Amino acid sequence: MGSERRIRVGAVPVGGGAPVAVQSMTCTRTGDAEATLAQVRELVTAGCEIVRVSLPTAEEAPAFARLVREAPARAGAGEDRPRVPIIADIHYDWRLALAAVEAGAAGVRINPGTMAEHHVREIVRAAADARVPAAPGEPDAPVAIRIGVNAGSLPRDLRGRAATDAPGALVEAALRWAERFEEWDFTDYKLSVKSSSVPDTIAAYRLLAQKTCAPLHVGVTEAGTVRSGTVKSAVGIGALLADGIGDTLRASLTGDPVEEVRVAWQILAALGLRRRGPDVISCPTCGRTEVDIVRLAEDVERRLGTDPALAGRVITVAVMGCRVNGPEEARHADFGIAAGTGEGVLFDHGERVETLPEGQLVDALLALIRARA
Ligand code: SF4
Repeated sequence: MGSERRIRVGAVPVGGGAPVAVQSMTCTRTGDAEATLAQVRELVTAGCEIVRVSLPTAEEAPAFARLVREAPARAGAGEDRPRVPIIADIHYDWRLALAAVEAGAAGVRINPGTMAEHHVREIVRAAADARVPAAPGEPDAPVAIRIGVNAGSLPRDLRGRAATDAPGALVEAALRWAERFEEWDFTDYKLSVKSSSVPDTIAAYRLLAQKTCAPLHVGVTEAGTVRSGTVKSAVGIGALLADGIGDTLRASLTGDPVEEVRVAWQILAALGLRRRGPDVISCPTCGRTEVDIVRLAEDVERRLGTDPALAGRVITVAVMGCRVNGPEEARHADFGIAAGTGEGVLFDHGERVETLPEGQLVDALLALIRARA
């Protein structure tokens, strides 16, 4: 799975067989350190493992430095959990990348096509010389760089090709920069060739994966609102991950970035790659449904997802609508409800626990799961 080469983004290994890492990006004004820190905390609680923050002006550099210093520890167990790595998102102004490195960023994302080559060289030099704290017991890492190319900033000689072969042009542009980085003896980089077209994204990453051993950050850019962006991300990122392509991902959505993290984890879980948090299985409903199963399933999913004691637990919970298939499915989950007429049976690892009125089922299910925590 993934690339041959492993790099580190702060404490998070990327590529070389490491688990596919979940990323998202804040949407607050970076200069508002309080608001951005609050959002970083929300993202981390939801399971975000690498947080990207835009650094659009030098005025926001002090706030960015504070974010790096005060970033919360990564989610999980243990006292000595390292801080979540913060990546600076930089466009055009190479000096901002230097400011981000200076501030302690674990990584910078640049689109080198928007900068002069000698300025990119300066960023690479600064990243190579810097050291970012890694996980306990691991050596500190240089600042990782993402080479993120896009169709809007291709070199002049590739623009014509992009009209008929966008994936080929994106990959060629990314590989040219990768070659430069290798010439400069810098290998702590990852590549991305995102497009807003799902077929182009899939084609570009498939081509790129054949030509590099560097880690790949995968995603569909400008994917859209929560519903359409989720579908595009699931199809595009899902197809790539199913092929074994991708070392870190972002599900880009126009909406709350916490949703991006949830969607990313759902994509990983659907492919059986990683699990985090409860997986709710619910029946599609049909004419046999005897209770309000839509409300029941939504209630269970919402309450499991927002209960701090349960949100990170890897459990399967079935919410089924009738006596025909319900009990069997509910039995195979860790916990389950199989509804009947105005009531339902609660299951705990295949064992019937009790029959309760419909209105008491969700509370009882949550209490049961908490009691087993
Ligand atoms: S579990 Fe029962 S109610 Fe739900 S879809 Fe299947 S048959 Fe219909």
